[in-house]
Amino acid sequence: MHSFTWFLILYTGSVLLAVSGLWFFYEKRDRKQFDARRKRRVFHCVRCGNLYSLRKRDASDGQECPKCGYKNYELSF
Ligand SMILES: [Zn+2]
Repeated sequence: MHSFTWFLILYTGSVLLAVSGLWFFYEKRDRKQFDARRKRRVFHCVRCGNLYSLRKRDASDGQECPKCGYKNYELSF
């Protein structure tokens, strides 16, 4: 009876550890994906109307449109 109680405690503990480990893993992964999406810079070409985005950190000096080459500035929301 005593060993069964220990087994139950260890079993429950390991299951809890596994679940919390998975939870942390997915939480971290989701946050990373969200950050990557949020860091994208969105541009709208005023000449041809093309909408494009970049994963660049600093784009304050503008970015050329991939369709027509016109230099556009970042959209701000
Ligand atoms: Zn363009």
